[in-house]
Amino acid sequence: MDKSHLQQLVTIAGEKSILTAKSDILCYSYDSSLESQLQQYLPSAVFIPDKAEAIPPVMSFCHQHAIPVIPRGAGTGQAGGAVAKYGGLIIDLSRLNRIIEIDTDNLQVIVEPGVVHADLNQALAPLGFSFPPDPGSTKMATIAGMISYNASGMRAMKYGTTREYVLGLDVVLSDGREIRTGGVACRSLKTVSGYDLTKLFVGAEGTLGIITRARLKIMPLPEKKGIAIAAFNQLGDAGRAVVEVFRNKIVPSAIEILDKSAIKAACLYKPSIKLPTDVAAVLFFEVDGPAAAVSYQAQRVAEICAPIAAHVEWTDAPEQVKVLWEARGVVGAASGRVRPGATRVYIGEDICVPITNVGAALEGIQRIGEKYDTIIVTYGHVADGNFHSAPVIDLESEEEIRRVRLVANEIHELALMLNGTVTGEHGVGLVRDQYMEREHGAALEVMRTIKNALDPKNILNPGKMALGGR
Ligand SMILES: Cc1cc2nc3c(=O)[nH]c(=O)nc-3n(C[C@H](O)[C@H](O)[C@H](O)COP(=O)(O)OP(=O)(O)OC[C@H]3O[C@@H](n4cnc5c(N)ncnc54)[C@H](O)[C@@H]3O)c2cc1C
Repeated sequence: MDKSHLQQLVTIAGEKSILTAKSDILCYSYDSSLESQLQQYLPSAVFIPDKAEAIPPVMSFCHQHAIPVIPRGAGTGQAGGAVAKYGGLIIDLSRLNRIIEIDTDNLQVIVEPGVVHADLNQALAPLGFSFPPDPGSTKMATIAGMISYNASGMRAMKYGTTREYVLGLDVVLSDGREIRTGGVACRSLKTVSGYDLTKLFVGAEGTLGIITRARLKIMPLPEKKGIAIAAFNQLGDAGRAVVEVFRNKIVPSAIEILDKSAIKAACLYKPSIKLPTDVAAVLFFEVDGPAAAVSYQAQRVAEICAPIAAHVEWTDAPEQVKVLWEARGVVGAASGRVRPGATRVYIGEDICVPITNVGAALEGIQRIGEKYDTIIVTYGHVADGNFHSAPVIDLESEEEIRRVRLVANEIHELALMLNGTVTGEHGVGLVRDQYMEREHGAALEVMRTIKNALDPKNILNPGKMALGGR
């Protein structure tokens, strides 16, 4: 973007909405990925609209002059998706953060893109409702960032991912045209009218359009929650227990795993956490629903696990549930504790495999850690085979950074070998595009055709998802 482009942009968008000072644009040069911390991706400018109507004229200008545009929510993404690989203009959508309408009778809400996930659920909770997808970044992540990465979390097995809750979107296309998907005036909970354009923008990582409004499905909050905890001497036994629980016709709202290193991390972080430490893994089963069903299911899960596990316990008393759940809650923040002075990095951290390959994936990750002499703390959503494998390294050491890249590559390769995917949650961005061809085969070419049809000048988030650079 040259000086004259910048001046024209300021005229179109208004001086107050455009940032160009080095100190300002530096704040937009990275997200949560290790890669964007190792290399600086500086945009030329940042546009912070305070109303959706300000976006189409800016897009139209950028289209005319082939200027890259990168939409950004909170920048908590871990795949480098919201950074400017080829410079250009970042659109920060965080100021568009109004909850426009809550319609509990029709089980839906209408929100602006920058609404923070926790704020939406805080507004819904007193009404007895929730927006179920639940990333660990709830207090920061924006709804449009979640839609663009199809974010999910612990409860995806029972409640689904963000995709299942998006009913319709307002989108500004690369040339500034505005469309509404899911029906212009439609307020129904389902439709089979026309191509499903709504879902096309879910998981598109900002490469097809800028989301400026979302109509989302909401659900009643469950009456009660219970929890069962089981500890195992072998990783494979933990995988078998998950299969057994489903085989016994119980669908927990979450099944989370902490491997040996994750147990250690949680206990070091908060010594009051009481977990067995001499085991290979601990499983947390959360069940929810009507009160009577909750106590039955929690007890039943404990019974099913007992013959395979070294230790089991269960409770449906709300205070006890909180205490038992705490170790799972802290483990993300605690990971770095396993090695004083080192840092947990986001690289190769969210593979997803079929449930029957859970044991093989966990053992494989441990072997990779040993091979490269790198501590990997592994925990995650074992109910759908999705793991967070968190390498803990010395960020000052070039040798450790070299090795952690090899670690990440082997973890991704392992996922593909086990019939899984390289990313179950955090997206492709610029850090996983090298696996797209192998994972998708000829379908990648169809994705490129769609991209080309909607963004022929490749201005929307170029250089991501193996869709083409500049
Ligand atoms: C501590 C921590 C825990 C996390 N836990 C989870 C988890 O449990 N599950 C999970 O899925 N993820 C998790 N994440 C990753 C991340 O928080 C989510 O993917 C989140 O949805 C990203 O939202 P964001 O607003 O930060 O988006 P950003 O990082 O700003 O952007 C993400 C992508 O969306 C695009 N985008 C943003 N806004 C728009 C828009 N309006 N229109 C079009 N494209 C847009 C960007 O271009 C980018 O490609 C975690 C991250 C952290 C730091």
